[in-house]
Amino acid sequence: MNYRDTRAGELTREDAGRTVQLAGWAARIRDQGGVMFVDLREATGVVQVVIDPASHSQAESLRREFCISVSGEVSLRPAGSENPDLPTGEVEVVVSELHILSASQALPFQLDERADVDELVRLRYRYLDMRRSRVAANLRARSVAVAAMRRVLTEAGFLDIETPTLIKSTPEGARDVLVPSRLQLGDFYALPQSPQLFKQLLMVGGFERYFQIARCYRDEDFRSDRQLEFSQLDIEGSFWGRDDVLATIEAVMVAVARDVRGVELATPFPRLTYQEALDRYGTDKPDLRFAMEIADLSDHFAATEFNAFASALESGGVIRGLNVGAAGLSRSGLDALVDDAKQAGAAGLVWMVVEDDGSLRSPVAKFLSADEQAALMEALAGTPGDHLLIVADRARIAAEVLGRFRTRFGSPEGHDELNFLWVVDFPVFEETPGGELVAAHHPFSAPVDVEDMATSPATAIAQAYDLVLNGSELGSGSVRIHDPDVQQKVFEILGISPDEAERRFGWFVEALRYGTPPHAGFAVGIARLVSILQGEPNIREVIAFPKTQTGVDPLTGSPSPVDDHQLAELGIALRPEVQAARDEAAGSGAD
Ligand code: ASP
Repeated sequence: MNYRDTRAGELTREDAGRTVQLAGWAARIRDQGGVMFVDLREATGVVQVVIDPASHSQAESLRREFCISVSGEVSLRPAGSENPDLPTGEVEVVVSELHILSASQALPFQLDERADVDELVRLRYRYLDMRRSRVAANLRARSVAVAAMRRVLTEAGFLDIETPTLIKSTPEGARDVLVPSRLQLGDFYALPQSPQLFKQLLMVGGFERYFQIARCYRDEDFRSDRQLEFSQLDIEGSFWGRDDVLATIEAVMVAVARDVRGVELATPFPRLTYQEALDRYGTDKPDLRFAMEIADLSDHFAATEFNAFASALESGGVIRGLNVGAAGLSRSGLDALVDDAKQAGAAGLVWMVVEDDGSLRSPVAKFLSADEQAALMEALAGTPGDHLLIVADRARIAAEVLGRFRTRFGSPEGHDELNFLWVVDFPVFEETPGGELVAAHHPFSAPVDVEDMATSPATAIAQAYDLVLNGSELGSGSVRIHDPDVQQKVFEILGISPDEAERRFGWFVEALRYGTPPHAGFAVGIARLVSILQGEPNIREVIAFPKTQTGVDPLTGSPSPVDDHQLAELGIALRPEVQAARDEAAGSGAD
């Protein structure tokens, strides 16, 4: 049997009079006594079909989401009954033949777009959820985005090369997902956090231009923009410097934005250094859809008599302020900001409200001279009603606290502009709260100056850069170290002993000894990009089968226990305390 000869979503008034065969799902059924109107939905769209139940014995049993095939004549809808919201709304198909291809059980939730369905239920029945237009549109947009990426890069001479997913554990900042080996009992593979070292080896291997839509795995705490497994557009190029990478990624983003959103992005994207981003916006991923900037007020208070400010300056700190506008907070709302600042690590927060006459209302106003108040008003461009927030602390904390307030008060709802930005010149290393140096990006990023890195690692700058879109980090990359000695120096600064470096990365450093070309690259998180393009607050909305915040797939029930013999084959037993906890949970579940 033929199922169809025409696509439902493509019918227009031009088709009136044609006999067509369509196949799809009965999305809505309206029985109007003697005539049934059915919205037939398939991948290209929806068209109304009209069934006379008297002439079709199967019509009576038809229910929502039955899969059907119909034949009939396209006709113009009677005047006044057109549906301007539907692309096919001027026509309907008068059914002469109806076949039920398969029935549907009663639905666990209405597929109606307006129905508000619990996310767990949506994920449990994801195959039904994706019949709804929201997820369907998101997955289509994702496919369009990926197609644009492949097209631009293939045309630019990049080769799409797969790298393995069962690899040696390599550090990229997150916890590895481990896979036990059956053939080498007691040994483990790791799933790649990214193809980082393999793409570098492809450069050693002479490919010069590589890309891949790569699956990556990071066992991190889930957030609304993170998943255990995710896809990256991963690229690498030889004889390249930073600006080659930036221009290539910009060309990709221009094509993606054009194909997905129909907008033309202006290039080059603006660039900020990491330091500028922190100083002016309090974050390394500023949302520049709104201006709100942090101002350094330290100079204005150099001779202040206000103790809290004076002592912050004396101990090498800064005084910085942010005008969050006329936020209309009550006294208790303002005081709550002080608690928030303290939670973020600040010693305190000063708030001031600009009164109608231009004076400042604040518990500390009386400690500031008239000149200081005037300077502050000018630096923060205060106008009546504005709330001014001031932090006197170490620069890092002032940035962190004011950056959070900037995000909270500045981010306008429903702002659908695409604001791309490069943040460049990241540091090579970051200090952990315990004072240890860790790689700020990953340990394969080249420092701007090797000598400087060796003598003052804590402040050394890397040739590393991030792409930011509307306040989210879309991706990162760097110029790589291609000199094995520099690579070893980085391991040494990271406190990795020569033995350990040899054991973990000996194979990689060895490869660098065979005439490695200078190279650089980048990776872009695809779900994050598509979720922003689609205006989705959560990346799960642009992933076909996502996991929940606790790493569970409600549809298949993974992760799940495995049979003892499967574990035995891998030489693995659950630790006694884990087994006991599971037994106890199973026991308490039973009664
Ligand atoms: N491998 C890096 C990451 O996944 C990206 C890169 O440096 O190319 O973040």
